[in-house]
Amino acid sequence: MQRREFLAIPALAAQVPFETGKMIGIQVGAVSFVDEGVDRVLDIFERTAHINTLFLAVFTYGRGIAGRQVPGQPLPDHGKQEYDLDFHGGNYATVHPEYYRDTGIRPEETRAPDHGDLDLVAAVLPEARKRRMQVILWAEDVWRDDIPGIDQLREIDLHGRRGARLCLNNPYHRNFLLGLVEDYTRSYEIDGIMWGSERQGALGNALSASHGGAPNDAGRVGCFCPYCETKARRQGRFDFRGVREGYLRLEEMVNEWHAGERPTDGRFVSFLRLLMRYPELLAWEQFWHDSLRETYLAIYRKVKSIRPEAAVGWHIWHNNSFSPLYRAQQDVRELSRCSDFLKVVMYHNAAGERMASYIRRVTGNVFGDFAPQETLDFHYRVMNYREKDLPSIPFTGFSADYVARETRRALAAASGTRLKIWSGIDIDIPTEAGHSQCTPEGTKAAVRAALGAGAHGVLLSRKYSEMRLANLRGAGEAIEELGLA
Ligand SMILES: [Zn+2]
Repeated sequence: MQRREFLAIPALAAQVPFETGKMIGIQVGAVSFVDEGVDRVLDIFERTAHINTLFLAVFTYGRGIAGRQVPGQPLPDHGKQEYDLDFHGGNYATVHPEYYRDTGIRPEETRAPDHGDLDLVAAVLPEARKRRMQVILWAEDVWRDDIPGIDQLREIDLHGRRGARLCLNNPYHRNFLLGLVEDYTRSYEIDGIMWGSERQGALGNALSASHGGAPNDAGRVGCFCPYCETKARRQGRFDFRGVREGYLRLEEMVNEWHAGERPTDGRFVSFLRLLMRYPELLAWEQFWHDSLRETYLAIYRKVKSIRPEAAVGWHIWHNNSFSPLYRAQQDVRELSRCSDFLKVVMYHNAAGERMASYIRRVTGNVFGDFAPQETLDFHYRVMNYREKDLPSIPFTGFSADYVARETRRALAAASGTRLKIWSGIDIDIPTEAGHSQCTPEGTKAAVRAALGAGAHGVLLSRKYSEMRLANLRGAGEAIEELGLA
């Protein structure tokens, strides 16, 4: 789809069920209701933090939003006091195969086996309704590789190998996502759907422009599958051979950087030289993000065609706070064409450790002409917030001022649209041993900062099963002090 075509699509007139009042949401997975009981969990949500909206983690194979505490991390002060080492993941609702067509994998195979026949949505929705809580189903594109047939949906990397993630232009994958949201929207009287994709395109990946562990292998970037190639050729916007050639050259360059070499003109100039020789490097990153937004739009239209009053929106990855390259792709005005809301991640405590990791990765890469602290100063300036120095931030996290600034920025970008901005708030997202931890005061300050800056809501993240009750209470106190309880 061409950029202009995308912009020409009018925003559908949505009857969003979040027009009035502040959305006070929490992300919660099936295991918490199994361990603690539906009534008891909802009681805690209401009494501790005045929650009015549940985000049920209904489809994921990841431990970030489902399952109990990550093994090795301290268990919180509620729930079963043992690790679920047999966590599997998948679809925690009932699978209705009739809504899926031509998906490459059998939808029944995605049914999560963790809790027997439990249907998370059927179990929680009626109880939530009694308490006048809204229910949003929350899914993310984290898969496992042992689902029969899944190979057909995967990305293909620069050297023709299957990638770890699924391709956004793969019709089986697209059909599966549309089947999934059709199933949810037709089978349950939900208030909305949120989907999240914590990924970026080949350029961001080749440059290791995200937080994480070791630097990325620049030969592992995608997607170079036949579906992407055909789509690119059909668009006729750029030379597909140039894309491949450019990324092969970039791979060589990145490998030299990782070996510690400093080219005569420095890394930044060498990179710019390559970018000017191969503008396809940038065009391919744009192509990936356009494909993501097309996926958003397809999901949006599918849900709205069935239940126009349901809200549809997206979890925006924390990388939005770190990488200018990634932030440039999060054009809120453009996103407003296919979204009712954005959950913008601004996890203040985890941000310190994550930003330090991001800075280490890019300073070992395209920012190699800079000292790490200079790289951080550059990013603080460009991203328009300022926190402590590089050695400190893993131990301090980020402040409430960061949350306020990120909230104001997202709201300003969304002004004049109907888009709701919900600040994603960190409650006990695991950090490395010895690094900063969430506190009741810090949580309270972050919630106050988000709502004080005018956010349409806050979404307490990532999952109740890793949150300590005192920190959840910190969020509740902020909501009371702001007169929203
Ligand atoms: Zn592809």
